[in-house]
Amino acid sequence: MSVRPIYNFSAGPAVLPESVLRTAQQEMLDYNGTGFSVVEMSHRSDMFMSILYHAKQDLRQLLAIPNNYKVLFLQGGATTQFNMVAMNLAHGFKRADAVVTGNWSRLAYEQMPLLTDARIHLAAHGGEQFGYYNLPAVESWDIDKDSAFVHFVSNETVHGLQYQTMPKLADGMPPLVCDMSSEILSREINVADFGLIYAGAQKNIGPAGVTVVIIREDLLARCPKNIPAVFNYQTHIDKDGMYNTPATYPIYMSGLVFRWLQTQGGVKKIEAVNQLKAQKLYQAIDGSGGFYQNPIADGARSKMNVIFKTANADLDKKFIQEAELCGLRLLKGYKSIGGMRASIYNAMPLEGVEALIDFMADFQRRYG
Ligand SMILES: *Cc1c(COP(=O)(O)O)cnc(C)c1O
Repeated sequence: MSVRPIYNFSAGPAVLPESVLRTAQQEMLDYNGTGFSVVEMSHRSDMFMSILYHAKQDLRQLLAIPNNYKVLFLQGGATTQFNMVAMNLAHGFKRADAVVTGNWSRLAYEQMPLLTDARIHLAAHGGEQFGYYNLPAVESWDIDKDSAFVHFVSNETVHGLQYQTMPKLADGMPPLVCDMSSEILSREINVADFGLIYAGAQKNIGPAGVTVVIIREDLLARCPKNIPAVFNYQTHIDKDGMYNTPATYPIYMSGLVFRWLQTQGGVKKIEAVNQLKAQKLYQAIDGSGGFYQNPIADGARSKMNVIFKTANADLDKKFIQEAELCGLRLLKGYKSIGGMRASIYNAMPLEGVEALIDFMADFQRRYG
């Protein structure tokens, strides 16, 4: 369906729906008859307040966010949330639990202790010395009912792992805090199973610069008074997201993506497409007779970030170079891991995945 000559498999900032880019282009010089651009708009103007309001409402509708949850569009990226979560939610607690399953959850685990008195307990580990190839089942997490929270990453963007069934904790257990940066809006979730969800926009929502935070209201009571206001969730709630200038343009574009998702039939519909895209790509890898390999355990393979390798690094390099020439862009794996990574977020059409599969078969014919 795309009229662009390329498919962009970047892990983030990542592909956006073409129609969204076109709308943004059309509205760039004159937003809705105002005569100026959204980038030039005061964040306190009625026009921007309306953009913000509708973006929030559309996100609420798409994820069926219950009324006792607040939605914030913050700056600082998901990385800032590693610390904000600990600073705000672990205040007054002795312990918080963290699950480490790959690059991002490891970074979160390392950063969280820095600005809290609570001890961050390693509740489960994906097995770093062997690489991260599988996910510890939620039943095996060593968590304590008196912990401040349990933090995990549902989709590991770098290592290509994803919890197929969203972990859920029993009643009476601490609130679950999830970094959903690279999968939010890719499948249906039950927001009520979480205390807090956060996601940097630049994977599956919109441009870099805005971070979605969905927080259960009762947890706000934990936010301490003696931390900088800009890192306090309560500050942002009190000021309706206007404590300081929000990332206005990224919020506007995220809003366009939310509307695009609604026209696609919502999260349930896009989930089915995502399922199909991932299934086809893993089938192509598994069906290559070992020419392409994905090391992730069957029940832990990411539907968003599909990693694969050939027999050696030179051939991987050739694959990436030739794919580039065929318009299949940014397939290079993460620097510490090598190989290839195809990020196939919501905005990657099925045709893009099919083009990649065709290329893989052709490359194998030539070099296999
Ligand atoms: C990209 C990513 C991050 C880091 O996001 P920033 O916006 O760069 O801070 C954190 N967690 C996950 C799962 C990611 O994919």
